[in-house]
Amino acid sequence: IRAQVMELINSPGIHYDMIGGLDEVIKEVIESVELPLTEPELFSNIGIEPPNGVLLYGAPGTGKTLIAKAVASSAKATFIRMSGSDLVQKFIGEGARLVKDVFQLARDKSPAILFIDEIDAVGGMRTHDGTTGSAEVNRTMLQLLAEMDGFDATKNVKVIAATNRIDLLDPALLRPGRFDRVIEIPLPDMVARVEILNIHTRKMKLAEDMDFDKLAKITAGLSGADLQVITKEAGMFVLRRRGEKVTMKDMMDAYEKVVSEEETSTPSGM
Ligand code: ATP
Repeated sequence: IRAQVMELINSPGIHYDMIGGLDEVIKEVIESVELPLTEPELFSNIGIEPPNGVLLYGAPGTGKTLIAKAVASSAKATFIRMSGSDLVQKFIGEGARLVKDVFQLARDKSPAILFIDEIDAVGGMRTHDGTTGSAEVNRTMLQLLAEMDGFDATKNVKVIAATNRIDLLDPALLRPGRFDRVIEIPLPDMVARVEILNIHTRKMKLAEDMDFDKLAKITAGLSGADLQVITKEAGMFVLRRRGEKVTMKDMMDAYEKVVSEEETSTPSGM
């Protein structure tokens, strides 16, 4: 059960240069998560406490998991991921204990980054709608708060939580000593989209006519994950026709395909 709910990677092998367009965010994450792990004396010398936890919020597929993995790699820390929605949907009755276990695991494997994805599933506004499981969810949440409060900031564990729905979060989570650093992860702008396209085509052979500026222009509103899917689909088009290079037409066809698939799937959560 533990193995199903927690993913543990010793060093995820994701580097900051694999993330497009989030330089400001990365700077902030280095300051608040990486430096406290690698150079804690910087903080103690000045007499300030680094945050225990950082909350990343933004649309799906904007790179929240990627950032958490990159920090872990850069700090040479263990990366442990736990999904808030798995916790409340798949492991009913076990939530509080699993939260306790995952924090213990993080301390055992420190230095560690504990990444809690979809924290809104656990830390949503406490409702009393009588649905089964909500008392259980509350218990899981209380355990999470207890772990954050019992946390010694000088210990070699940092918690990064992520959500698409910050509006749903219980404000108790954001109090000092808990997730008191909140960082917005925006959708990529034009420049960022070009960067992301470059990152995901680093190993591809591109035809002369490739025009990332044009592609970036028409992909306004799409996420980094969407762009990654487009480059992959374009590669598949080349494979299918046994071509050698990815042409602009492959990219445009892939773009059409991805956008039409997005339109048919329900745009929930955003
Ligand atoms: P979710 O909220 O859906 O969990 P997320 O914000 O955690 O999404 P990631 O899992 O980090 O998103 O992103 C999914 C994939 O999309 C990444 O593995 C990467 O390939 C690509 N991607 C997303 N954002 C970026 C970015 N800024 N630069 C490069 N690649 C990106």
